[in-house]
Amino acid sequence: MASIDSLSHIRKPLSGGGQVVVLNTGAIINPESEAMLQALHSRSTEGIDGHLKILAEKGSEKFMASYYVGYGHKSIGDCGSATLFIEGVSMLAAKAVQDWKLYSGQESSTRYIDFAHQAFLNPKGTESGTAIQEKWRTFYLKAVEEMKEVLKERFPRAEKEKEAVYEKAIAARAFDTIRGFLPAGATTNLAWHGNLRQFADKTALLRHHPLAEVRELAETIEAALLEAFPSSFTNQRYEATEAYAKAVMQQYYYHDPKAPTCALVHDGVDHTLLASMHDLLASRPPKTELPKWVATAGDVTFSYQLDFGSFRDIQRHRAITQRMPLLTTKLGFNEWYLNELSESLRTEAEALLKEQETAIATLSLSKEEAQYYTAMGYNTSNYFSGDLPAIVYMVELRATRFVHPTLRAQAAHMAHLLEETFKDEGLVIHLDPEMDRFDVKRGEHDIVKAE
Ligand SMILES: Cc1cc2nc3c(=O)[nH]c(=O)nc-3n(C[C@H](O)[C@H](O)[C@H](O)COP(=O)(O)OP(=O)(O)OC[C@H]3O[C@@H](n4cnc5c(N)ncnc54)[C@H](O)[C@@H]3O)c2cc1C
Repeated sequence: MASIDSLSHIRKPLSGGGQVVVLNTGAIINPESEAMLQALHSRSTEGIDGHLKILAEKGSEKFMASYYVGYGHKSIGDCGSATLFIEGVSMLAAKAVQDWKLYSGQESSTRYIDFAHQAFLNPKGTESGTAIQEKWRTFYLKAVEEMKEVLKERFPRAEKEKEAVYEKAIAARAFDTIRGFLPAGATTNLAWHGNLRQFADKTALLRHHPLAEVRELAETIEAALLEAFPSSFTNQRYEATEAYAKAVMQQYYYHDPKAPTCALVHDGVDHTLLASMHDLLASRPPKTELPKWVATAGDVTFSYQLDFGSFRDIQRHRAITQRMPLLTTKLGFNEWYLNELSESLRTEAEALLKEQETAIATLSLSKEEAQYYTAMGYNTSNYFSGDLPAIVYMVELRATRFVHPTLRAQAAHMAHLLEETFKDEGLVIHLDPEMDRFDVKRGEHDIVKAE
């Protein structure tokens, strides 16, 4: 068996200093062969053993080369999966990758990681751009330390609480507050686990993304995947499809019309059908999902404002369909971040916001590029639609005490709107009874090395 350090992973650098890595797990049956085995299995009655025998005789490469996949459908690509590690990309690029209903993966947490020394991507490379981003950094550095002290006074440690866990919980709350001042150009790392088809379908859109950074990332991912899985990826392009993808991404991708604070703007649910499920809705216990087929009753749509920092969290709910908000300064900075600060930090922050808003405007960038210099605490306009199983799951998870307060408040608001709209049909929503409590357990949610 190959040792871990002898494995050769496909690595491709990104011009901003990051990289894309396709993990080689050293599996004897690689993802492509695994997919091919399933395709062959569907085309003969002899069973898996015969195909495994041929694979064993020929080896993975020759096995792939000796079969023409006349199956003719991309679903074969669903049958093999891989993991990509994407490092040193902006928050905007991370969100672009994750904006996909079949995304699986994990991203660096702004709650448990100190972003003080992370690189900030300045795509225009201008001094004025760097100056704006570094001003955010200076405030972040100062405010994180000050806030830890302020928070200790605000939430003193109870005797029964372990000191290390308490310190982590305080740091997490300080990061929750000060992340609002990190520009969206701050770099992050993420992993993307998916099947081969999803990689192909998603990158086909990403290569037309409005941001040059994301277009380069898509091309780099495609090159890395082509090298890792030559029988599954191709450079072939279809002109009309490419032109359509370009129009979709460049003209319609970002969602910017001013949203209300939080409103259920469309109720497409068949209330009569839903009423026939009354007992099912009313008897659901906490931490239990509604059956997916409740979705047949229809969808509802919410329009609401949320800071980009918290949008990053809600965006991960794949069962609802969300638009990508454009990060600007026009809806103002989310008040929660300012309210958390000490009086002196707040005065400083308010002056900083004014100064930075003017500086960003004078950069004369496109509204998409200006996002790199804009802090994540600014509110954005958001829009999603989804069925009841998906939305109920999301609001219950996001209205707990362990979730960032700006998202928690919106999730609770949505939960109340849903209860109000579907009360006659028996919809029950289980909310955390103490959702606003500072709970040191958030200090236990980090992943640490076992002693
Ligand atoms: C306190 C907290 C800390 C977190 N920290 C991190 C972190 O550090 N890093 C990080 O990367 N993430 C973090 N997350 C995000 C987390 O990993 C999830 O991505 C996010 O909460 C979405 O959860 P989900 O996948 O369960 O929900 P959803 O995607 O909303 O899924 C809900 C249900 O629907 C199913 N489903 C999923 N997609 C579909 C679909 N397309 N159609 C139908 N059904 C579908 C799911 O299987 C599930 O049963 C954190 C979340 C919380 C609450």
